[in-house]
Amino acid sequence: MAIEDFISERARLVKESGIRRIFNLAASLKDPINFSIGQPDFEVPEPAKQAAIEAIRAGHNGYTVTQGLPALREKIAARVAHYYSGPPEILVTSGLSGGLLLALMATVNAGDEVIYPDPYFVSYPNLVQWAGGKPVAVSTYPDFQLSPDRIAEAITPKTKILLLNSPNNPTGVVYDAERIQQVCALAEKHDLLIISDEIYFDLSYDGPTPSPAEFVPQRTILLRGFSKSYSMTGWRMGYASGPKVIIQQMGNMQQYTFVCAPSMAQHGALAALDTDMSEQVGNYSRKRDLVIEELGSHFEYAKPHGGFYFFLKVPARFENSTQFVEAALDQNLLCVPGAVFSRQDTHFRISYATADHTIRRGCEVLRAMTG
Ligand code: PMP
Repeated sequence: MAIEDFISERARLVKESGIRRIFNLAASLKDPINFSIGQPDFEVPEPAKQAAIEAIRAGHNGYTVTQGLPALREKIAARVAHYYSGPPEILVTSGLSGGLLLALMATVNAGDEVIYPDPYFVSYPNLVQWAGGKPVAVSTYPDFQLSPDRIAEAITPKTKILLLNSPNNPTGVVYDAERIQQVCALAEKHDLLIISDEIYFDLSYDGPTPSPAEFVPQRTILLRGFSKSYSMTGWRMGYASGPKVIIQQMGNMQQYTFVCAPSMAQHGALAALDTDMSEQVGNYSRKRDLVIEELGSHFEYAKPHGGFYFFLKVPARFENSTQFVEAALDQNLLCVPGAVFSRQDTHFRISYATADHTIRRGCEVLRAMTG
């Protein structure tokens, strides 16, 4: 067998992420204006850094229990307790990504359909396929809100899961409570499970982001994390809560895969949860407003209420987002083509997780490209 023939069919379904390709290009540019960043530019809170360092020095370098440190689970439980009638079941995961993989592996059978709104986070089609499921993307263009009608149309007897993400990557859009409630009613009617990716929950700028856990906690796997909230993307810390039997099953599977989330990062996360991040969140809300001020009258977009992205429509004189992003690269500006997140190639994503002067410089380049 040729060596590449050893690669499984499952693995062959996975292509290099389009974002990675942009990052590789970025490496070859000299001092680019980088609007492609997927992580906050603020510092990890000092108490979290200290706690992680002290944990290492104090010898907390071994495995923790699979479910996560009891003190950490307790603190996380307090944050989500209002969704549940009893004590929440919590699993600390290796990033939200670890939780998402386990949630899908624990629930998807071969051929089960998983519906998610398009545009979507890049992992979704890949992870659903790994789990043996069939990815079903449902368009949310042009306002990027949940459409209960379109989701209802996409439901078949094989549909098992609705995978939602709000605040959304790549659009920054926060789903309206009313729409979420309607989609939860569909989940009840068709007996579906909801997986809710709420990685940007703490970066909500106009009131808290509504969650399906408010309406159907008994059929929602809630996934959250520390990556964006505390700028800890490399620490690999997240958590899952929801129906006890499923969360426990995910825990069993974690035991044979990730084993536990990194020990020192769990100690750091414990301290992070006591840190007030309102200044950082306020700053990002202001950056969001700055982008609107700079680009609002030049591009079509849906107003983001969370996260740190805008999903802008490509100006008419370009054929598609790939062509636009290549033209932007010629101007030393990095952004991500919409085709990476969508079956449609009409928009591009910018991230404003960067310094104000960089935002201004980048927006100036983008404005010039509309002419
Ligand atoms: N979901 C979404 C929507 C994301 O944007 C990201 C990070 N880019 C993740 C999940 C992964 O988060 P984590 O670092 O916690 O694995």
